[in-house]
Amino acid sequence: MSTKDYLEKDYYKTLGVSKSASQEEIKQSYRKLAREYHPDANTGDPKAEERFKEISEAYNVLSDEEKRKEYDEARSSFGGAYRPGGGTGAGGFDLGDLFGHGPTTGTGTGGGERLSDLFGGLFGGRGGRTTTQARRGADVETETTLTFSEAAQGVTRSFSLSSDAACATCKGTGARAGSSGPRMCPKCSGTGHESTNLGGFSLSEPCSECKGRGLVVDDPCPTCNGSGRGRSTRRVQTRIPAGVSDGQRIRIKGKGAPGERGGPAGDLYVVVHVESHPVFGKTGDNLTITVPVTFPEAALGAEVRVPTLNGLPVTVKVPAGTPNGRTLRVRGKGVTRRDGTKGDMLVTIEVTVPQNLNNEAREALEKFSAATSDHDPRNGLEARAKGM
Ligand SMILES: [Zn+2]
Ligand SMILES: [Zn+2]
Repeated sequence: MSTKDYLEKDYYKTLGVSKSASQEEIKQSYRKLAREYHPDANTGDPKAEERFKEISEAYNVLSDEEKRKEYDEARSSFGGAYRPGGGTGAGGFDLGDLFGHGPTTGTGTGGGERLSDLFGGLFGGRGGRTTTQARRGADVETETTLTFSEAAQGVTRSFSLSSDAACATCKGTGARAGSSGPRMCPKCSGTGHESTNLGGFSLSEPCSECKGRGLVVDDPCPTCNGSGRGRSTRRVQTRIPAGVSDGQRIRIKGKGAPGERGGPAGDLYVVVHVESHPVFGKTGDNLTITVPVTFPEAALGAEVRVPTLNGLPVTVKVPAGTPNGRTLRVRGKGVTRRDGTKGDMLVTIEVTVPQNLNNEAREALEKFSAATSDHDPRNGLEARAKGM
């Protein structure tokens, strides 16, 4: 449908109510009409179906106080397109008039972001194609890099996402602020199409003058060169759940591009990169760490302090006679799971060997060696190697 069609739409007239109708009146009228024109009750009647769509569209806007206000404001800022009480109805005004006088939308009544969305819908359609049906917003993909701890514990991230939107400078009209605003394209009379007669049949093409917009501007907005289109940047804050892994693509419902005409927002997909940690690793929900101990600690047993992800160290009891490479489990100190519980921390013991011994230590070790000479750790090794 063309821009002209949209501006001619009188939702109040569609629902047969006055501009000052209460929500209750709007609802009652909608119900009555919806029953009458419902496709189930009018099988195979395309006119009824069309009418039903119009009724639904009108109700979608008028039943929502905020949308209704924007609709009213948008129409009044187009120089009186709206006529209280329905006026002469569709076709009762001239688009040239409409844009020639009255306040321009660039300096219009405001209404904030949602209003500019509405203008985006009016003028921002690609190639003049605008649809009145609610449309789901596009899915958006982005990526982020998390530290190891952020990935393990979950983190709130803010994303800057840009998407197509009405030009912010001219609110989508394409006209320079303070100029007379867009006017109906004289070539296509606002339809956005021109037909070439090819002897017997005609070919409809986007209008060459207005590029299908149905509107032309004499003094174009310098920001968008008159196209009315721009990019909008939104900041989206979202929680990245705990326990994500490097390379994972997570879906965050409803945080993609906003829907059009009441449609739901798309989803946001975030590809997560996780930095490695100098100390911790991860297997499933378990956090892993290798903890060096001295030989006496391993042999005699010890209590050692082990760091955790939250910064508070835990004391781990290393039993006497712990061999190198043994893994001890510390319950509940691992990675946060989806349900909020936590995995375990797996502490792998690494027995270290001192590189430089002073005399005292050397003598002590020699004494120790003599005292344990009956213990041969390689006892039977050669025999086993021969397969006996
Ligand atoms: Zn602009
Ligand atoms: Zn045109």
